[in-house]
Amino acid sequence: MAGAQRYWRESARIEGMPIPHDVRKKPMDVKVRVTTGEGVDVTWSDGHTSHFDFPYLRENCPCALCNDEREKKARVASSSGGTAPSAVLPMFKPRVTAKSATAVGNYAVQIEFSDSHATGIYSFEHLREICPCEACQREFRPVAKETS
Ligand SMILES: [Zn+2]
Ligand SMILES: [Zn+2]
Repeated sequence: MAGAQRYWRESARIEGMPIPHDVRKKPMDVKVRVTTGEGVDVTWSDGHTSHFDFPYLRENCPCALCNDEREKKARVASSSGGTAPSAVLPMFKPRVTAKSATAVGNYAVQIEFSDSHATGIYSFEHLREICPCEACQREFRPVAKETS
């Protein structure tokens, strides 16, 4: 079971993506609160609810560009022992909000963020896997250990 979740990033790609069979990744109710800036609330078919705020979603944007960025950052951090030059000075960033959100078929939402980034298409499968709660972290991301 755990092994099947290892490639969750890849599974977020949309080409030919089948409707998820996993009941845990099927949304029953989706609320995207763009005007209030509160974020996205999803109620899943198994009764679980997830709340994602926009900065969190922006950080976990599944588009190829952001995937590259994250991988680069991870490489830099691990090759320099965790002290990446860019991490020395924490920059104040304005809180990211969403300008708009669009449903993509019945399997994903596309979000345009306040920094004009709009290439991220969040499949519900991906959203369930990045649910910030502890239970889902254990369930879907068991590999959250330090790489030393
Ligand atoms: Zn992105
Ligand atoms: Zn959860």
